[in-house]
Amino acid sequence: MGSLAAPQPSGGSRSSVTTNHHEDDEDNGPERTLIRNATLVITMDPSLGTGPLGLIAHGDVLFEGDHIVAVGQHLSAQHANVINGKGTIVMPGFVETHNHMWQTVVRGCASDETFDAWASGCIRPLLSGAGLLTTEEVYAAVRLGTLDAIGTGTTTSVEFSHAPSLDFANGTLDALEHSGMRFVLAYRFRVGREAHVRSLFHDRIATNPLAGLQIGGPVATSAPATLADLNASIALARELGVMLHLHFLETSNDRTAHPVAVLQGTTVFDGTFDGRLLLAHALHVTDAELDLLAAHDARIAHNPLSNMRLASGVIRLPQMHARTMKVALGYDGGTNDTSDMFNTMRTAMGLQRATTLNAKIYPGVNEVLRMATLGGAEVLGIAEKVGSLTPGKKADLIILEPGTINFAPHVDWVSQIVLNGQPRNVQWVFVNGQTLMKHGKVVGVDEKEVVQEAEAAVDRIKTRLGR
Ligand SMILES: [Zn+2]
Repeated sequence: MGSLAAPQPSGGSRSSVTTNHHEDDEDNGPERTLIRNATLVITMDPSLGTGPLGLIAHGDVLFEGDHIVAVGQHLSAQHANVINGKGTIVMPGFVETHNHMWQTVVRGCASDETFDAWASGCIRPLLSGAGLLTTEEVYAAVRLGTLDAIGTGTTTSVEFSHAPSLDFANGTLDALEHSGMRFVLAYRFRVGREAHVRSLFHDRIATNPLAGLQIGGPVATSAPATLADLNASIALARELGVMLHLHFLETSNDRTAHPVAVLQGTTVFDGTFDGRLLLAHALHVTDAELDLLAAHDARIAHNPLSNMRLASGVIRLPQMHARTMKVALGYDGGTNDTSDMFNTMRTAMGLQRATTLNAKIYPGVNEVLRMATLGGAEVLGIAEKVGSLTPGKKADLIILEPGTINFAPHVDWVSQIVLNGQPRNVQWVFVNGQTLMKHGKVVGVDEKEVVQEAEAAVDRIKTRLGR
């Protein structure tokens, strides 16, 4: 291995990641890193390599500063840190589109319940009164979640924060910034929060190259207070030019509130939100509703592990694909319990096969791997920046070590990523050219301390709730 420095993440605020800037006496330009002779480079750009995923055998990847400069064979670069890629797989980092990292504090809660019992038993007590998380507790919870996400090779996460208080939203944003990840804060908006969201957006999101904002709205119902929040969410998302993110038809019970008719009563289908509406789950949809959503380029965040855990249902992925809808994967916080993109890919693929008895049903291995990377970037509208190793895009990439008990031997590595991969195979994670994980360890983070802080947060919350 070469002498790769571990620079600090370029976020909007200071990070706890240790800094160790590479100094080069002969060249004071941006830092360069060359991953040399990787056994397989999966570019996700068909124009750069073979097949739909743009594969390059024995390939090199060169990045400089925050972006990818070149991908190919036998690249050379002066003054570059060199990583010996022999025996490894280099690919874009995972882009997941729906999470609630604060819910790491309810991992394992109500594990044999469906959504309503889970939500009322595990979540609602933490959103008000004595159970309300302090800034410090939210920070500890989200911090744990970001490290879990990085550990599975996630370079972009969307944190749908329920934001029951200003402190809650602020603590969430602190932890996201300190993670060094690329992130989108989906702020669950309520009437009266306009000033807070605008100030976060202008002061901490728009100024941070790693950050994005979405407006998270309520689950659509015709209850007057919900409608008021929904209409105000639409108005604010429109004002700020950001995506609107809603939970949508997650359970069959949700149909009784007629969410499609409710949404049709708002301005969300007037054309101005085409490509900017992100719906989490969308399990219990009819063909006609899919036609409507497809006509407005609605994007879908699919969370298969959560859907299985809560017995919510199985998404109609092939029908969405037939309508060329953009669908990506998500971890969905506490209803999923684990951030593991390898398991997420396997279940997204497996649920369709198990329910149709058809091994050729969409998505196949190539398709689900694309869904987990470039597909996520497309859903979020950031595919011009990340999702593939196309030169000019940001250097968000991971290096997998396949020479392990769970993964070897070398037969068909693309298939093995989906069928055999585990977070332990992720050895290096780079976001915006910065090293977040090196040799399987998150850089500059004391994992024990992070775990202790999460434990302490849970203990305090339980004490306050008298549990
Ligand atoms: Zn969710």
